[in-house]
Amino acid sequence: MTDYNNPARVRVAPSPTGHMHLATARTALYDYLLAKKTGGKFILRVEDTDIKRTVPGSEQEIMDGLRWLGLDYDEGPDIGGPFGPYRQTERRDIYQQHAKILVDKGRAYPCFCTPDRLEKMRQEQQNRKETYHYDGTCRRLSPDEAARRVANGEKHVIRFKMPQEGSTTAHDLLRGDIVIENKNIDDYVILKSDGLPTYHLAAMVDDHLMQITHVLRGSEWLSTFPLHVNVVRAFGWDEPEWVHLSLFLKPSGKGKLSKRDSEIAIKDGYSVFIKDMRDLGFIPEGVLNWIALMGWGVPEDDVMSLEEMIKRFSIDNLTASPAAINFAKLDHFNGTHIRLLPDPELAARIKPFFIKAGYSVKDDMLIKIVPLIRERLITLDDCVSFAGFFFEDVVEPNPDDLIAKGLDAKQSAAIARKAYEILSALPDLTHQVAEPPMRAYVEQSGLSANQVFGILRVATTGQKVSPPLFESMEIIGKEKSLERLKKAIEMLEKM
Ligand code: GLU
Repeated sequence: MTDYNNPARVRVAPSPTGHMHLATARTALYDYLLAKKTGGKFILRVEDTDIKRTVPGSEQEIMDGLRWLGLDYDEGPDIGGPFGPYRQTERRDIYQQHAKILVDKGRAYPCFCTPDRLEKMRQEQQNRKETYHYDGTCRRLSPDEAARRVANGEKHVIRFKMPQEGSTTAHDLLRGDIVIENKNIDDYVILKSDGLPTYHLAAMVDDHLMQITHVLRGSEWLSTFPLHVNVVRAFGWDEPEWVHLSLFLKPSGKGKLSKRDSEIAIKDGYSVFIKDMRDLGFIPEGVLNWIALMGWGVPEDDVMSLEEMIKRFSIDNLTASPAAINFAKLDHFNGTHIRLLPDPELAARIKPFFIKAGYSVKDDMLIKIVPLIRERLITLDDCVSFAGFFFEDVVEPNPDDLIAKGLDAKQSAAIARKAYEILSALPDLTHQVAEPPMRAYVEQSGLSANQVFGILRVATTGQKVSPPLFESMEIIGKEKSLERLKKAIEMLEKM
């Protein structure tokens, strides 16, 4: 059982190589929950040592994404902290010193093999159907010769010297002991010829120096996990607790989530990127609840706020088995959390979507609309198609939609005229005033409510599906509702 009495120090360590993925968000969420639960700290560390892959703007997107989700970090590149800097390219010297420590201890060595030589070696191994591994040429150099060549300025990398005998046992909190023969682990490069470290050195050094207690990371790191514990042990450091989170699978459950899946998702109004989710009208509460449960087995009621997640979170309940992306669940959680928002809050959240769609939003009207539409929203931007007509001066119904089911244009026009007669005689169109006489008309006319209200709905809102009719007419107001009805009558009469 994990001990929740000691403050945990946990970090999310994304590489700024593209859009912020939901996998990063999930790691950050679990980190955050563990930090909050234990009174510890949640840290953002930017792993930007693969300079060729760094995408401008990506780091900012990650920071914005975490804040949008409400996962505020306690230490990070833009806010600093006691263990900074938090951007790896600003920590070069630290890694070089640590690579040297390992060389001095005989646990790492400089390698002078040229890319050409390594390529030739790779080809030969491929021809012999061997898996790629460094052949140990420079491992066999004497330390003196190696030191002399380094002093002469010969171009080199530093490789970790994996023990060749025995096996390594690496312990993962979810997966137990992982045992691997050392001879199957390559002498990985830990410092590149440009003086920048690879992940295998940088992350281990930083996790130690930043006093990280729990490393939560993707299970793509399982294959190099034994290497990592060897690096940590070579320094003589204590290991953090290791947790390799479950893999994300395609929505079909077949195969690992790929880049192409995100392109497909976008066509359906979904995304695996946090910034898209915001634009698509998903709310942080819904997204968090959704990602929380991809890899965390929550037994009963699964609708949780961040506060509740903190209370209920436990590493022991995380699951190692892969999780298929299920966008229907995202809809479910998003809609559910939208309905939990108080009216003024929901009004503030949907307003930008109306504005983006080109409407000029009147706040007094907006706050009246919210209770009418909240039950119908799955994403915030659903408000536009459902309720945009409230902010239109005129609506343009499709003439055919004005014809009630089972009736023709003439009969529908007669009903619309009757409705006009009834409504225009009323002092106002509040729903309490307008609904009873219209229902009475339905009763005595022998028509169905669907027929009568359908005409009225299309006439006043311009659409076949709308929020409750009389409540909507109340907001549109008597003058405008009657104006719209009149126009509908004219349209029907012309058909
Ligand atoms: N920079 C690594 C990545 O983006 C971090 C893995 C880790 O959390 O240690 O995959």
